[in-house]
Amino acid sequence: MEETGFESQNLPMGSDSFPQLWENYILPIPLETEQQWNDDGQLNLLGSSQDITTFELLMKDVSTPDPNPPSSTVPVTTDHAGEYGFDLHFQKSGTAKSVTSTYSEQLTKLFCQLAKTSPVGIIVAKEPPQGAVIRATAVYKKTEHVAEVVKRCPHHQSEDMSENKSHLIRVEGSQLAQYFEDPYTKRQSVTVPYERPQLGSEMTTILLSFMCNSSCMGGMNRRPILTILTLETPEGLVLGRRCFEVRVCACPGRDRKTEEDNKEKSDSKQKKKRKSAPTPETSGLKRSKSGSSGEDEEEKIYNLPIKGRSRYLMFKELNDGLELKDKTGANKIKQEGPSSGKRTMRDRSDSD
Ligand SMILES: [Zn+2]
Repeated sequence: MEETGFESQNLPMGSDSFPQLWENYILPIPLETEQQWNDDGQLNLLGSSQDITTFELLMKDVSTPDPNPPSSTVPVTTDHAGEYGFDLHFQKSGTAKSVTSTYSEQLTKLFCQLAKTSPVGIIVAKEPPQGAVIRATAVYKKTEHVAEVVKRCPHHQSEDMSENKSHLIRVEGSQLAQYFEDPYTKRQSVTVPYERPQLGSEMTTILLSFMCNSSCMGGMNRRPILTILTLETPEGLVLGRRCFEVRVCACPGRDRKTEEDNKEKSDSKQKKKRKSAPTPETSGLKRSKSGSSGEDEEEKIYNLPIKGRSRYLMFKELNDGLELKDKTGANKIKQEGPSSGKRTMRDRSDSD
C-alpha cells in the first residue's frame, strides 16, 4: 500500500489517524469481508464491528432457511430435471406373472406388490451439493383427493409395531433413511442421503417399498397415487423432481399388461375417430363458436348457382330488394343515433 498522504486526506472517520483507523476499523473486519479504496481514495468500510455482526447475522438469515419451511398444501407433481439433471431409471422387469415390481414407461407407472422392494435408479448429470438428499412423498393423483394426505390404512398400521407404521413409502436397505411428517400439512415423506454412484456405475439405486395395497379400505381405497422423488439440499431446497404413478397390487405383471393394452386400445380408437369423421367434428366446432350470435353466418357471402336468365333476374330482384331493406334499416338507426348520443352527452355533463 502506498503512503501518499493518507493523513492529509479527508477520511470518512473524521480525525482518526491511519494507524488508528487500521487498528479500530480494519483489523476487526473478518478476512472474507471486502474492504476497498474507492476512486477518491476513500475507504469503503461497512461500519463499526457491531454493524458487521448485524450484517453477518442478516446474511445467515438469508442463507440458512428455516428448518421447517411452510410447505405448499398441494405438492408439485411436474417433472423438473433442474441444473443437476435429476432423472430416474427403472429396471426392465417385464410383465411375467411372477414379477413383484415392474415399471411401465408407456404409462409412467410403477406396479408393485405390497411391501416388496422396487429398485429406483437415481441419475444426476453433475454432483449435487454435499449433504443433498433424495425425498419420496406420496400424493393422490386426482384433484378431488389431492388435499388428503396419503397414509397407510388402519388395518396395516395396527399390525405394525415400528415407529414409521403410518408411512406408506419406506426406503429399505439404508440405516440413514429418515421419516418426516410436515408439521403444517401433515404430509409424510422419507429421505435418504444422496450417494455418489460406485465406480463404474452411472447411477445409485434406492429401494422403495409401499406398505399398503392401492385397494386398502380406509387407506388409498382404490384412489391412484403419485410418488414424487425430489433431489434436495440439506436445507430442503428442491433441486430436481420426478413423478410417477404407483399401483400396489397382487399381480403387478398382469395389471401392467392390462392397463397398457387398454391404453393402446383407447389411443387407436381416438386416432380412428379423428381420421374417419373430421368434418362433423370441425363443423360442430364452428357452429358452436359462431352459433351463439349467428353474426358470422349473416355476414358471409353465399353463391347460389341458378339455371336460366329469367329465374336469375327474379332472384336478383329479390336479393336487391333485401339489400335495399338492409340499407334503409341501417339509415333508420343512423337517424336515431344523434338524439341518443345527445342524451349521453347531457348525462355526462350532468354528472360532471
Ligand atoms: Zn393397508
